[in-house]
Amino acid sequence: MSTTLDLSAANRPAITPSLAGMTRNQIRDSLIATGLVEEKKAKMRSGQIWRWVYQYGITGFAAMTDISKELREGLGAHFTLARPRLTERQVSVDGTRKYLIELSPGVECETVFIPGVGRSGALCVSSQVGCTLNCTFCHTGTQALVRNLTAAEIVQQVLIAKDDLAEWPSRLEDRQITNVVFMGMGEPLYNLDHVSDAIDVISDGEGIGIGRRRITVSTSGVVPKIEELGARTNTMLAISLHATNDALRDELVPLNKKYPIAELLEAIRAYPELSNSKRVTFEYVMLKGVNDSPGEAKALVRLLQGIPSKINLIPFNPWPGSPYECSDWDTIERFADIVNKAGYASPIRTPRGRDILAACGQLRSESVKQRASEKRRLEREAGA
Ligand code: SAH
Ligand code: SF4
Repeated sequence: MSTTLDLSAANRPAITPSLAGMTRNQIRDSLIATGLVEEKKAKMRSGQIWRWVYQYGITGFAAMTDISKELREGLGAHFTLARPRLTERQVSVDGTRKYLIELSPGVECETVFIPGVGRSGALCVSSQVGCTLNCTFCHTGTQALVRNLTAAEIVQQVLIAKDDLAEWPSRLEDRQITNVVFMGMGEPLYNLDHVSDAIDVISDGEGIGIGRRRITVSTSGVVPKIEELGARTNTMLAISLHATNDALRDELVPLNKKYPIAELLEAIRAYPELSNSKRVTFEYVMLKGVNDSPGEAKALVRLLQGIPSKINLIPFNPWPGSPYECSDWDTIERFADIVNKAGYASPIRTPRGRDILAACGQLRSESVKQRASEKRRLEREAGA
């Protein structure tokens, strides 16, 4: 008895997987699993597809001109090259762009492009929807964790921004997205497997090609994962410090009760290859009357002694109902001056995109926690 492979839409799985966002191994394994490509040719074929997806950013299989028509049709029957839906796109008066992306029904994350950072611009990506940590000055922290993002969903944020900025094909010259920072929603070290896979894709020189030295992962201080981050990703490290003593840091970054400052600094010192050309960035949010005195600036300098560091002073960005005020400009400058004189670069990070709530700590999607059964129902409906 012969069986015919029915490729009609009705017989496809409810949600056709997208190759755009997959790692090299996932693409190869998918080609083999569908029977479209035999094992010995899978590496070569997945390499071709990889370049179309990540170097050229194509969204249809017809453009894959070095692949036979038959295989292209097979690919089209099993896969898409779709990105998640962009539900909202806002452009700030300062050129910052904020993207609201629907990952699955009712689950949204935010991604922000900030021009004029690094050699050209930085894309700030989310690693989770919401956050389990409750830093008191952070808007995202007021949203319960909805879920971790998959590696593909992290990569797709980059693809969506590159689509919007017309950055295809990927090139090294004249590009707008030169840096990627994991400083959007969520705590990346609580989703390290997916963050690490996503970094492998984003940094791959045959695709998007944003090198590991131009990728920064920011953590609120998940001490046991810092060494692993270094070993697996070799990216730049940023630490959300915000206070120089445990009593205050316990209050601002409650994770400090679990991993106090001394343990955090010890883990940072062990981060691989730290040097003057590979420094740790310490983020310090300026909260009026809370952590902004000259004494605290001096304490900060003492604390970081011996660690190749940069200090980013972030003027507090207010959000509806936030319990703090931003320090006065004079106070911030005095603080920066003390830190500068001690030999640390300490740029004051000009708030970007405040008018569209795209600045640090202002991100908070409307996604609400759903029961798993409800989520499955909605996903089934979306796929039908
Ligand atoms: N969860 C990670 C990654 C988010 S990074 C982390 O905390 O490091 C976002 C940065 O913005 C962090 O340094 C965070 O402390 C800072 N931030 C949060 N809320 C802020 C606010 N309202 N104003 C200024 N900076 C804020
Ligand atoms: Fe989470 Fe970072 Fe916000 Fe803290 S600052 S609540 S860790 S996103």
